Amino acid sequence: MHRKIWNGSFDKRPAVIVRCAGVSDVIAAVKFGRASGLPVAVRSGGHSFPGLSVADDALMIDLSPMKGVRVDPERRTARVQAGVLLGELDKETQAFGVAVPSGIVTHTGVAGLTLGGGIGWIMRKHGLSVDQLVSVDLVTAEGEFVKASVDENAELFWGVRGGGGNFGIATEFEFRCVPLGPQVLAGPVFWPMEQSGEVLRFYRDWVAEAPDELMTIVVHRKAPPLPFVPVELHGKSVVMVVCCWAGDLDEGEKFIRPLKEFGSPVADACLPKPYLTHQAMFDPSFVPGRWYYFKSCDVAELSDEIIDITVERSLQISSPLTSFPIWQLGGAVGRVGEDETAFNGRKAGFTYNIGACTETGEGFDEEREWVRSFWSALAPWHEGVYMNFLGDEGADRVRESYGPKKYDRLQALKKRYDPDNFFRINQNISPS
Ligand SMILES: Cc1cc2nc3c(=O)[nH]c(=O)nc-3n(C[C@H](O)[C@H](O)[C@H](O)COP(=O)(O)OP(=O)(O)OC[C@H]3O[C@@H](n4cnc5c(N)ncnc54)[C@H](O)[C@@H]3O)c2cc1C
Repeated sequence: MHRKIWNGSFDKRPAVIVRCAGVSDVIAAVKFGRASGLPVAVRSGGHSFPGLSVADDALMIDLSPMKGVRVDPERRTARVQAGVLLGELDKETQAFGVAVPSGIVTHTGVAGLTLGGGIGWIMRKHGLSVDQLVSVDLVTAEGEFVKASVDENAELFWGVRGGGGNFGIATEFEFRCVPLGPQVLAGPVFWPMEQSGEVLRFYRDWVAEAPDELMTIVVHRKAPPLPFVPVELHGKSVVMVVCCWAGDLDEGEKFIRPLKEFGSPVADACLPKPYLTHQAMFDPSFVPGRWYYFKSCDVAELSDEIIDITVERSLQISSPLTSFPIWQLGGAVGRVGEDETAFNGRKAGFTYNIGACTETGEGFDEEREWVRSFWSALAPWHEGVYMNFLGDEGADRVRESYGPKKYDRLQALKKRYDPDNFFRINQNISPS
């Protein structure tokens, strides 16, 4: 059971699974890994798209039992252990009216998400997860405990804010918390997918003026049978603009009104609701154990050509479970200097996360082909890719996701902290 990860298309059998309850277990596991010579896979939330938290015949270091979260309401910080999931963190922070910027599905791991950057509903207002990171505790490839922050091991701290699990096993994170909620104005507005061209053209002009309080994700899919979707839409192809307004609700109503009045939406579930409810909105679309395949890219803008391709390809979706998000970036994310963290792509306009899903292996190959072909059609406009959205795409794509300058700097750090590439079952930065 512990070898299972979120993406059901991976069925790997590690030789040994070590379930860690604390830092001393992690140190012992790393030392055992070195002594045994087994390849090492590290698992926190188990949500790696390409299944990199488990491997055949490997030592799997499983941090999921490490569930500690401690919010300090006076200092407005949160200490979070590596096995914590986003929903578990949100529950604790919202008890104090604060939040840590994270992602959009509650069962994703804080650790893997943060080590890659962390994009989500409040990033345009409050930045990425790594932009609120104060410090991180790590166990290195030598089994040594180190801390990294702006004042301590600063280069390592730069690298873990986007460089993934290449430099050590993160055992605990300390974040600044931001004030939030408990209510946000959030949820989807729906149109028939045939109208996607007009909706996307309106949308791109409307979001160009959006304040940081607003974050949106556009989703094309067959409408799922969920309580907030009218029954007559179930199974019909729709385009949704999903909003999250993290600020004054009346101002949000005013700004979002033109969207709700554009054309003739077939449903509107964008309403004031608890942040915790909105954070869970996509959970039923990304159920653990189903088969998933993703390919991603950033684009600078939603040009007419990109919109035309998006509409044409979306109308070809056949699986009722396939649901792919287009993320609006910008705001606070783009105001942090590109060199301040290893996370790359702060100036991108939108992220395409073209993903397909089937219940089992049946029909999976066709859906995967649809993803690949859609992604290739966008190739002339690719601007980079978010490392956490990479699949198993090879060393060149990892390098591309950081760009050559950042990659070289990350490589120098890797040489220093993991010259033998002990941590290599990941989006790997090779030491040589
Ligand atoms: C349903 C779903 C929703 C998502 N939503 C978002 C989103 O909203 N925003 C976003 O930014 N990303 C999102 N992602 C991508 C997500 O950030 C990455 O998949 C991330 O790596 C998941 O982290 P994890 O701890 O769950 O995964 P794991 O599979 O446990 O780990 C992922 C990678 O990180 C390494 N790793 C994990 N824990 C540690 C650790 N403690 N120390 C060192 N290395 C470690 C693993 O070895 C592996 O290579 C989503 C993914 C899924 C599947």
